[in-house]
Amino acid sequence: MAYGTVKDHYRQELKGIKEAGLYKQERFIHSPQKADIAVEYPPSSPLANVVNFCANNYLGLSSHPDVVAAAHAGLDERGYGMSSVRFICGTQDIHKILERKLSEFLGMEDTILFPSCLDANGGLFEAVLESEDAIIADKLVHASIVDGMRLCKAQQYIYKHLNMDHLESKLIEASQDCRHKMIITDGVFSMDGDVAPLDEICALADKYDAMVAVDDSHASGFMGRTGRGVHELKNCMDRVDVITTTLGKALGGASGGCVSGRKEIVELCRQKARPYLFSNTMPPVIVSAAIKVLDILSHSTKRRDKLEWNTRYFRDKIEQAGLIVRGETPIVPVMLFNAQLTQDFSKDLYYEGIYAVGFFFPVVPKGQARIRIQLSADHDREHLDKAIAAFTKIGEKYGILGLDKKEIIAKYGD
Ligand SMILES: *Cc1c(COP(=O)(O)O)cnc(C)c1O
Repeated sequence: MAYGTVKDHYRQELKGIKEAGLYKQERFIHSPQKADIAVEYPPSSPLANVVNFCANNYLGLSSHPDVVAAAHAGLDERGYGMSSVRFICGTQDIHKILERKLSEFLGMEDTILFPSCLDANGGLFEAVLESEDAIIADKLVHASIVDGMRLCKAQQYIYKHLNMDHLESKLIEASQDCRHKMIITDGVFSMDGDVAPLDEICALADKYDAMVAVDDSHASGFMGRTGRGVHELKNCMDRVDVITTTLGKALGGASGGCVSGRKEIVELCRQKARPYLFSNTMPPVIVSAAIKVLDILSHSTKRRDKLEWNTRYFRDKIEQAGLIVRGETPIVPVMLFNAQLTQDFSKDLYYEGIYAVGFFFPVVPKGQARIRIQLSADHDREHLDKAIAAFTKIGEKYGILGLDKKEIIAKYGD
């Protein structure tokens, strides 16, 4: 067996990852996912009680008692596992109910569930586009869209992030020799918390006869007046052809994803999308809980309203404290620009009881390091005030309050 030499190679590679500062160390959480969590970090150290600002638990539903109760009921009434893919013997009545409720919530004709949104993005493009077609993507789309595009034979065009002039030039280019065109963008981008100008994208799509697809994983449930997503926020609910989204973030946070859209597109996915055909069906426990989530959200906008309030409050206070933020969503990047400063800042926050991670190269471009805060409807005013106080205290310690980007870089480098 030749593993001996392979092993050395792998160990070298792992060492390289560590030396480059890219080794990802997990932190162990000893409590349910919510605003207050107990964390073991570093491994084997005593538990720290911290306020969580890095979950995608936007609506605070991940451990909501009604959702947990619905999960129990699903388990009791429909069992634990289906031991099948959907088209053989893995479709229960509740899978169809969830698909119908997602269609209603998102305002689309039909919906197909996937084991995850990564799988939805992995299956969609190959199912509906061929080599005569073109796919035109924002440069910063999610990794799973990049993977889905790799699996699909359509010609690929990339436009500069949020740049509508560049999108238009790519649409003109693609129009010369392509049959069908599909534009794909994230609704909300996870690193900067910025929002795709979906109304403008739809206008360009009309002009150049293209379909519009949006991955609303960081938007479904809370963006827009009733939380339908970025298409609601940008007033183009009837103009988007396809939405992919996840049940693993605001919508309960367990797992699962979907493609929701024009009924022919959904039907083609049911016939052709490989993650749908060849991976196990979503378990009843999650399906049942997800139905409850959609019932809660269809009934009241209380949670997204609170999240919106939290977002405005936190962003205003952090700016007033003299720190720099970007974007406009519950994803709040607090810009520090320097990688080492970001790591130190994040560690200091942790010792102040605030759990928020730093991002630096290569996750974001060099000189763009930041702490990313993700707000939740589970956060109360006290949680936010505690974080604002900690940011202010640590910002003062490093002497960066009130400094602009140039001044911080002059002080710490980029
Ligand atoms: C999180 C995320 C996904 C992956 O969702 P999963 O259901 O966890 O696979 C896909 N796209 C975007 C934009 C995301 O943010």
